[in-house]
Amino acid sequence: MEAGIVGLPNVGKSTLFNALTSAGIASENYPFCTIEPNVGAVPVPDARLGTIQSFIKTEKTIPAVLQLVDIAGIVRGASEGEGLGNKFLSHIRTVDAILHVVRCFEDADIIHVDGQVDPIRDIETIDTELMLADLQSVESMLDKARRTARTGDKEGKQRVEVLEACQALLAEGKPVRSLSFDDATLSKMFKECQLLTAKQVLYVANVHEDDLTGEGPHVMKVRERAAAEGGAVVPVCASLESELAELDAEERIEMLESLGLDEPALALLARAAYELLGLQSYFTAGEKEIRAWTIPVGATAPQAAGVIHSDFERGFIRCETYSVADLEELHSEKAIRESGKMRVEGKEYVMQDSDVCHFLFNV
Ligand code: GDP
Repeated sequence: MEAGIVGLPNVGKSTLFNALTSAGIASENYPFCTIEPNVGAVPVPDARLGTIQSFIKTEKTIPAVLQLVDIAGIVRGASEGEGLGNKFLSHIRTVDAILHVVRCFEDADIIHVDGQVDPIRDIETIDTELMLADLQSVESMLDKARRTARTGDKEGKQRVEVLEACQALLAEGKPVRSLSFDDATLSKMFKECQLLTAKQVLYVANVHEDDLTGEGPHVMKVRERAAAEGGAVVPVCASLESELAELDAEERIEMLESLGLDEPALALLARAAYELLGLQSYFTAGEKEIRAWTIPVGATAPQAAGVIHSDFERGFIRCETYSVADLEELHSEKAIRESGKMRVEGKEYVMQDSDVCHFLFNV
């Protein structure tokens, strides 16, 4: 899963990005992630990995990862090429979700680009740029689709239908996120447009150290806004997270305790992002590694196997499955088998959260 961090300048994006990605990961486990300066992969904290590890001996434990892209350069006028402009907007097209960092902390020493701290105005500035950029791409796609449609091409006509629906919403100043198409072809075409405002948004309220739970007036406004959009808000203090990131594991736990927190913001962020995107985890566990994998809620067993390798999906035969809770109760796979709790599931099986799987497949 990949998330793009957006927000106005000086709201704390880089501070947060650096804090989240500084922990670092063993990149040999993640061949897909090319590490560029503004791209980082962060392990998703998951207590269930620790539970599995306490009962199954293994060489290494590999958490799921969240890929983050720091997308700087969105300012008022970005869609018109102001600031770093369109080049940066194009970086967001491929991400699965947007983490929108909004400044909710007051600090006279840190200049706000628009003078006062006002998270709703900031959100609207960014949203406007994203909508304008979408409107431009919709209009240019629409020109092309209309030409194709005129030749009587069925797909061209369908594409015009999709794009006109997008254009109408954007022209009203609304994101296209709320659009959905019952028809599978139209729905696929809509996804292929890769519009920026089609992506789910998680607001990251960058709060003052004194308001870590995010009850202050600025955050409350963001909460209201997110609730109205069906989105979510995670309060984070970016400067505190960057201090936490410098500490070793033991000191970090101490500092979190002294602040009255159970876990770093990353854990909260990752969970909120999973929920927002309709994702869940399943696990594989063996002598070589215990590993968490990310799948959409509702994925079938072959689709889950396909996340490991596409050959596994094609050649899927069946899987043996139990839940992390079974392991906690019975302490070994052997005991789970003996108690009859090891399930054999076929191609139709819909994965449950916390499943631990052994796949059997043809290659
Ligand atoms: P960006 O332009 O959005 O990437 O913002 P930066 O991460 O560069 O932060 C801008 C300034 O705000 C820097 O001086 C940071 O140290 C400061 N800053 C970032 N987060 C916080 C925070 O949570 N509290 C306070 N007081 N300052 C912060």
